[in-house]
Amino acid sequence: MMKMTPEHEELQRTVRQFVDNEINPFVDEWEAEGIFPAKTLFKKMGDLGLLGISKPEAFGGSGLDYSFEIVAAEALGTAHCGGIPMAVGVQSNMATPALSLFGSDELRKEFLAPAVAGDKVASIAVSEPGAGSDVASIKTYAKPDGDDYVINGSKMWITNSTQADFFCVLVNTSDDSMHSNKSLVIVPSDLPGIMVGERLHKMGMRCSDTAPVFFDNVRVPRGYLIGEQGKGFSYQMIQFQEERLIGVAFCLNYLQLCIDSTIEYTKDRKAFNQSLLDNQLIHFRLAELQTELESLRALLYQATEIYIAGDDVTKMASMAKFKLGQLCREIPDACLQFWGGMGYIEETIVNRIYRDMRVVAIAGGASEVMLGIISKLMGIHTSKPA
Ligand SMILES: Cc1cc2nc3c(=O)[nH]c(=O)nc-3n(C[C@H](O)[C@H](O)[C@H](O)COP(=O)(O)OP(=O)(O)OC[C@H]3O[C@@H](n4cnc5c(N)ncnc54)[C@H](O)[C@@H]3O)c2cc1C
Repeated sequence: MMKMTPEHEELQRTVRQFVDNEINPFVDEWEAEGIFPAKTLFKKMGDLGLLGISKPEAFGGSGLDYSFEIVAAEALGTAHCGGIPMAVGVQSNMATPALSLFGSDELRKEFLAPAVAGDKVASIAVSEPGAGSDVASIKTYAKPDGDDYVINGSKMWITNSTQADFFCVLVNTSDDSMHSNKSLVIVPSDLPGIMVGERLHKMGMRCSDTAPVFFDNVRVPRGYLIGEQGKGFSYQMIQFQEERLIGVAFCLNYLQLCIDSTIEYTKDRKAFNQSLLDNQLIHFRLAELQTELESLRALLYQATEIYIAGDDVTKMASMAKFKLGQLCREIPDACLQFWGGMGYIEETIVNRIYRDMRVVAIAGGASEVMLGIISKLMGIHTSKPA
């Protein structure tokens, strides 16, 4: 199992302190505005070394193993919103892992180093209006033309996009088969032909900006290709593993806050001459949810160990993401019920958690897509999804 060393504990303290001082006092304001100041917040995090924990030291990272990323992500999950951890996750664990692993030194110097320092905001642009779960069927095309690619297409639901300095974009670069025609390309957001649409109004994760991005004959130097042309699909599948592990870590403490705040609320609230919490139906249910949460934590730590050992973590990461999706629906829904009418009021924390966490079973690989991967790796189903 994952062991906590004094170094892990130190990192955990730093992140928790950062959340207490720099995030939680401002969450209500950012949620109301529908956006948080990514550039300012990321710079502060970059200065503390929190955006490149496992990234190579040559590009400003700390070069630590992935258990440190997990510990930091769990601590960031003490934020009183899901939007900030999601935005930070995009920067460090969704838009940049492939760049870090496969990008050329020049590319990493130009984009990874400033992302780690908090000087550039990153987005990952995979999903499209017509292709979310079915990643292989994306239509955005980057046509090789002399020393450039010329990109046309559109991406949908892109986190951080209205503040991004660059996008890591999954594109088609040839007419070969669906899994060998794809590439990942870094695209600076200020190039001619890029248009970021209006912020989408979301049910939850409101302090995180999400928008569509359009590419109209955007010229990008061929040097901005990550690794080899045609390997984009497998790079993205590798990148997804970090995204899924970190996604679980971000949610653990937010789900814990859901349970804890419900214990507090139901202890204070009296009905039929006793605290609501004194009803066996309620305290048994909370005990059951706490047990589920601890099982998920154990699964995450086991998957992290596998990943650190360099073994294929796809099955375990998919199982953890699947279980997380289920609990992100079950825990907030059960807890909100015990808050009664107050649970239905937007200002309560249980209401925010309920709204924020609903997306977890959908984004970054829907629960059904996870089941597809798991059953394929169990050898009981061989067709799509990949
Ligand atoms: C807040 C938010 C932030 C996001 N951020 C980003 C981002 O930064 N970058 C990015 O690229 N994308 C992002 N996304 C997009 C997200 O990853 C997609 O929404 C997700 O992959 C699902 O794709 P879809 O919406 O097209 O659903 P669809 O593919 O249309 O699927 C709809 C539903 O059908 C079901 N389903 C799908 N496949 C199967 C199957 N094989 N078997 C059974 N049922 C199935 C699932 O229940 C699924 O939810 C974000 C989305 C949201 C809501």
